[in-house]
Amino acid sequence: MTTLHDMSVAELAQTLKTKQVSAVEVATAFLARTGGNPHNAFLDIDSEITLAQAQASDARIAAGTAGALEGVPIAHKDVFVTRDFATTAGSKILSGYRSPFDATVVQKLNAAGMVSLGKVNCDEFAMGSANENSAYGAVTNPWDTSRIPGGSSGGSAAAVAARLAPAATGTDTGGSIRQPASFCGITGIKPTYGRASRYGMIAYASSLDQAGPMARSAEDCALLLSAMCGADLDRDSTSLDVPTENFSAKLGDSLQGLRIGIPKEFFGDGLATDVRTAIDAALKTLEAQGAKLVPITLPRTELAIPVYYIIAPAEASSNLSRFDGVKFGHRAKDYTDLVSMYKKTRAEGFGEEVKRRIMTGAYVLSHGYYDAYYLQAQKIRRMIADDFQRAFGECDVIAGPVAPTVAWKLGNNASDPLADYLADIFTLPASLAGLPGMSVPVGFGEGHMPVGLQLISNYLQEARLLNVAHQYQLATDHHLQKPEGI
Ligand code: GLN
Repeated sequence: MTTLHDMSVAELAQTLKTKQVSAVEVATAFLARTGGNPHNAFLDIDSEITLAQAQASDARIAAGTAGALEGVPIAHKDVFVTRDFATTAGSKILSGYRSPFDATVVQKLNAAGMVSLGKVNCDEFAMGSANENSAYGAVTNPWDTSRIPGGSSGGSAAAVAARLAPAATGTDTGGSIRQPASFCGITGIKPTYGRASRYGMIAYASSLDQAGPMARSAEDCALLLSAMCGADLDRDSTSLDVPTENFSAKLGDSLQGLRIGIPKEFFGDGLATDVRTAIDAALKTLEAQGAKLVPITLPRTELAIPVYYIIAPAEASSNLSRFDGVKFGHRAKDYTDLVSMYKKTRAEGFGEEVKRRIMTGAYVLSHGYYDAYYLQAQKIRRMIADDFQRAFGECDVIAGPVAPTVAWKLGNNASDPLADYLADIFTLPASLAGLPGMSVPVGFGEGHMPVGLQLISNYLQEARLLNVAHQYQLATDHHLQKPEGI
């Protein structure tokens, strides 16, 4: 039998179902790995709770009432509120916060039988591209601990890459599932905006936020995504009222005749040669599998950066107004009146990047600037979405890099927040359009760091994306590589 921590979600589910191993044994094996908190990936671990959940899974397996993913462990990004574990969103302002309920996504994965290994680190309120904005310290990349794991779901990606968990939840507002998946050599998918409920996901930019799975293969992502999605209209009015899908059942199609759009704007000057080489090789493989490459254009790609960094902070400045020391988490000790309590709490509780975004957001929404920035950004956002629709007239999926480079060194962009923003160029367009996107490991670049291929499809075609990734993974073994010593 393969070592438990090397097993995929699919293998673990099968091994548990056939009672070759118990959920308690699986949980114990993973808890042994998360002890000592390698890579600073976890923010909360509670072995008693994990083992109690595993025992309940074993009871359901014995009673014949097992769920689809019964007993399989998962780690949750710390922006999902959880009853059993603390929730901080990587922020000091929420230190010590316990939610009275579970996020819908967590609840659905629990209902499928999954066992929670705890909460994983992330950029504060999911704002970042390197996981260096966490109030609880940076996460290191398991492929090279002098480098960042990507962000904001950096803890999720590092945990899966280092075999601390077979899967993790992530959230993606502008790339936070795809980019860390790419940087850590794992597979991740951000579904169509609204596929998964945002209820209980601490809001960053509500018109963009979306949950998704991060695991080692497309096959595993399909299993997890099937369990996570579904309409939740009473609690998230933007969740889509579409039937749930069994994405795993749709992984059989050949790639013969598939039209893959190659946007020329994704292959310009800014793309590092090592990333380009790995992406080109992946496209060749897909061609050999029967796909046809079609040159397309997404002319407003560059504008996605200013547009996103206006809209996301605008929404954040509103969403984060609830953190004022009254209801949740941290409250300043010395204050004179209510306003001084708000001010001190927020000054002490928020990190630099979060403050920067609240200020930017308040600015672009303020009287006299609203039309020039926010309204203008909304108009261009619509044009970006229209560009994709035009492109999908010529192709079935779009492919390109996830990020312009491989994971950079920790501290590299410490004095230059704009450098992190610019590195989001290839993930922001699909986010602004609300389209599904995924990252698939396709090899290695400089310093033997993983490179991810981004695949984007039209709305609600996650099954197609997952199938392309799965067919590629049947023909290659990049997703099976693991960091040295793990
Ligand atoms: N890097 C982007 C940001 O900092 C995206 C983050 C995300 O998707 N949560 O906003």
